[in-house]
Amino acid sequence: VGVQRRKSGVLRRRGRRRRLSRPLRLAPALSRGASNHWGGRSRHFERFDFDARPELGLAAWPIGYDDFAAYLPEARRLCELPDFAVDREPVEGGADRLERIVYRHSGGPFDGPPTHFGEEYRSALDSSETVELLLNANALDLIGRPDRDRVEGVAAAAYDGDRFDARGDAVALAMGGIENARFLLHANAGAADRYGNAGGWVGRGFMDHPSCDFGLYFITRRLYSHLPDFGVQTLYRRQKPELIVAPTEAAIRDAGVANFHVRFQRLESRALTEEEIGGAPMIRDLRFGEDYFFVGDLFCTVEQLPLWESRVGLIDEIDPLGMRRVLLDMRVDPNAERTIRFAAEETARMLVRSGLGRARFDDWLVAGEPAPFYSSNHHIGTTRMAAAATDGVVDADCRVHGTENLFCAGSSVFPRAGHCNPTLNLVALALRLADHLDAVADRQA
Ligand SMILES: Cc1cc2nc3c(=O)[nH]c(=O)nc-3n(C[C@H](O)[C@H](O)[C@H](O)COP(=O)(O)OP(=O)(O)OC[C@H]3O[C@@H](n4cnc5c(N)ncnc54)[C@H](O)[C@@H]3O)c2cc1C
Repeated sequence: VGVQRRKSGVLRRRGRRRRLSRPLRLAPALSRGASNHWGGRSRHFERFDFDARPELGLAAWPIGYDDFAAYLPEARRLCELPDFAVDREPVEGGADRLERIVYRHSGGPFDGPPTHFGEEYRSALDSSETVELLLNANALDLIGRPDRDRVEGVAAAAYDGDRFDARGDAVALAMGGIENARFLLHANAGAADRYGNAGGWVGRGFMDHPSCDFGLYFITRRLYSHLPDFGVQTLYRRQKPELIVAPTEAAIRDAGVANFHVRFQRLESRALTEEEIGGAPMIRDLRFGEDYFFVGDLFCTVEQLPLWESRVGLIDEIDPLGMRRVLLDMRVDPNAERTIRFAAEETARMLVRSGLGRARFDDWLVAGEPAPFYSSNHHIGTTRMAAAATDGVVDADCRVHGTENLFCAGSSVFPRAGHCNPTLNLVALALRLADHLDAVADRQA
């Protein structure tokens, strides 16, 4: 993937001025697809992630949580994940505002390798009588006639330049959150925007899960009587389950902030360093071994909102196969700042209410400076799902608006990012799409 990063952007959508957003620096491009690099951390969307949040300008998903969740057991099996039997529960001091949530790790033990889909399922694909697998083939364009709202297949090329057409009854693009948009933008350039770009949304609404550390926490003596409840014993030993908290629906609706989770991580039994104490006199007075026993980092991931100006676009430079290279202009909405501040305050309150510990916020947070967010390598929203063609790219069946037999799979179809890692969720939606394609094929037969 050829990448160009750009710092400025036009903050307008259809003439409406919007509040200023901030650029997010993205990780360098990775070879052979993100699935070869993923960390295996997994959790499903929350039920309320699918509902409208008018106060944040967010419409409901065109499908309900249950439409999606029906595919979670099979998605979990493919991602080699145990179930989430109790996936949310009260946490001491959470006061109905924060709850403990469960993350799972693909492939087994926490430090083990996550599922490598290519290796795991290669032999099943090779031996399948219904799948023909073409490796090292690059889809370059759609094949379609201007007078028909169907596609006939894709034009493709091998790396040595050999060109060929792959034809079929339907085309599903599953190239990742950046490449799905790049390919559609490229195809639309020669087709008067007829592939899902009636509202101009192809590549727009580009999201990630902005994340950063926001402070330290100290665990006090009283915690010892609560170890089994709080799970810190296992956290300390770097085993699962770890302690992750997330807000209740009521809490974020009241506060008008987006979803998030806070991870208590890298817990160590040691005294604070001078640098950590910094200019905080109250912290200086705390005695290691008496007032506190463990120190760890507080890490927050927030739900990014979809912005028109946050986008995957094309630049004029052409790659060796003749496709325009990609422009990534990721913008973080101002709400992310409010969300991480809310997360920090609630987490600190939780520690105080329960008497379990204390939080010390990082200097940027105390000084009211912007959060030092970085990318989580999750590429979301660039072919967003919407009921109306003017509001998105694909419909509730992941079908590209305006084209009968063109579909998208992957986190590019999420209209909202939620706060959880995307892979389990995109696998569930891909399975749903597969069921849909089966049903269409049956009807046609
Ligand atoms: C460092 C890192 C850590 C991550 N950790 C996690 C995690 O812990 N949990 C989690 O849920 N997610 C994680 N992710 C995100 C996760 O990797 C992605 O959500 C997931 O891999 C997306 O799967 P995909 O099949 O949609 O896309 P990809 O895995 O990117 O696959 C797309 C495939 O399409 C191919 N392709 C692209 N363009 C073309 C074309 N024109 N023609 C033919 N083929 C093409 C690519 O080569 C690739 O093989 C992480 C990502 C990274 C980079």
